[in-house]
Amino acid sequence: MGTFKAIRIDKSDAGYQAAFTDFDEADLMDGDVTVRVSHSTVNYKDGLAITGKSPVVRRFPMIPGIDFAGVVEASTNPAFKQGDEVLLNGWGLGETHLGGYAQKARVKADWLTPLPAGLTRAQAMAIGTAGYTAMLSLLALERHGVTPDMGPAIVTGASGGVGSIAVALLAKAGWRVIASTGRPQEADWLKALGAAEVIDRNELSAPGRPLGKERWAAGIDSVGSHTLANMLAQTSYGGAVAACGLAQGMDLPASVAPFILRGVSLLGIDSVICPQSRRLEAWARLASDLDAGKLASLTTTVPFEAAIDRARSILDGVIRGRVVVEIP
Ligand code: NDP
Repeated sequence: MGTFKAIRIDKSDAGYQAAFTDFDEADLMDGDVTVRVSHSTVNYKDGLAITGKSPVVRRFPMIPGIDFAGVVEASTNPAFKQGDEVLLNGWGLGETHLGGYAQKARVKADWLTPLPAGLTRAQAMAIGTAGYTAMLSLLALERHGVTPDMGPAIVTGASGGVGSIAVALLAKAGWRVIASTGRPQEADWLKALGAAEVIDRNELSAPGRPLGKERWAAGIDSVGSHTLANMLAQTSYGGAVAACGLAQGMDLPASVAPFILRGVSLLGIDSVICPQSRRLEAWARLASDLDAGKLASLTTTVPFEAAIDRARSILDGVIRGRVVVEIP
């Protein structure tokens, strides 16, 4: 067995460190499928892992990277064979199991999703965990029964990874999309993705009233905290908000007024241990509904060497859309 290039996080008396290393293949964790990783991505959680700002990593040493796409190198599970193209989101990758910022990964077959027809590995990672979570959010809203004829849909953190893909997906599904962003300079780009209106996130980020004017029937929120509380307070009667993120904060300083006076629903979205049937549904719908040109317009591709730097900067909210990491 040899070594492969990886980012390795260590925690010791010397501190918390992420650095490139030659990782020994013999130190990979148990799994029935070995994958030659070709692409990973930079998600908000990768930023938390690389910096140690939140206790995302729960095993040391750790290879971060919560998602990857690649080609099966070896499999003892009949579900996959050498040469199959696959992707993986979540399941503790980069948190409890060695992750995607590496040339190789060994994982459980049950965690893998076959690359959806119509998507390249690079496109699948341009979507990545963020885009798949945006689709899980849209599917949750649809399952709940909210429809575009009830009013507009708002997306918060619209210039980020989850947000930008949510804008494109909601527009494609027929919604009039209101994009909330702290980056007014991205308004034209957000409109090209499908937003009908762009609002300043400051309208939502400060403490607000328990109920406000009814402004939208649905929402996808990647921000949490006061922003989510204000979204709920301004959701129209019978509407619903899918909550998937915490870029502003983990707290939810809200009242029950929207729930008990307007029948508003708050739908929780988890991508990490989401059941396989729902993942397959989300990926198939992403392959069919997400416009390739829009996906390209929200994607930046960087070499492996840039992954640590980009993962640090995502926490500053300065990355537009999605970042794909090419693994040589
Ligand atoms: P990004 O950093 O790409 O997007 C987050 C966006 O939120 C930023 O681009 C910015 O958008 C906005 N934002 C950042 N800081 C603040 C702030 N202090 N107040 C208000 N808005 C802010 O991250 P991702 O899209 O990768 O992830 C978004 C969130 O979703 C994260 O919290 C992540 O952990 C979560 N997530 C959860 C998943 C799940 O399974 N539930 C899966 C994937 C992600 P703008 O500049 O437009 O305002």
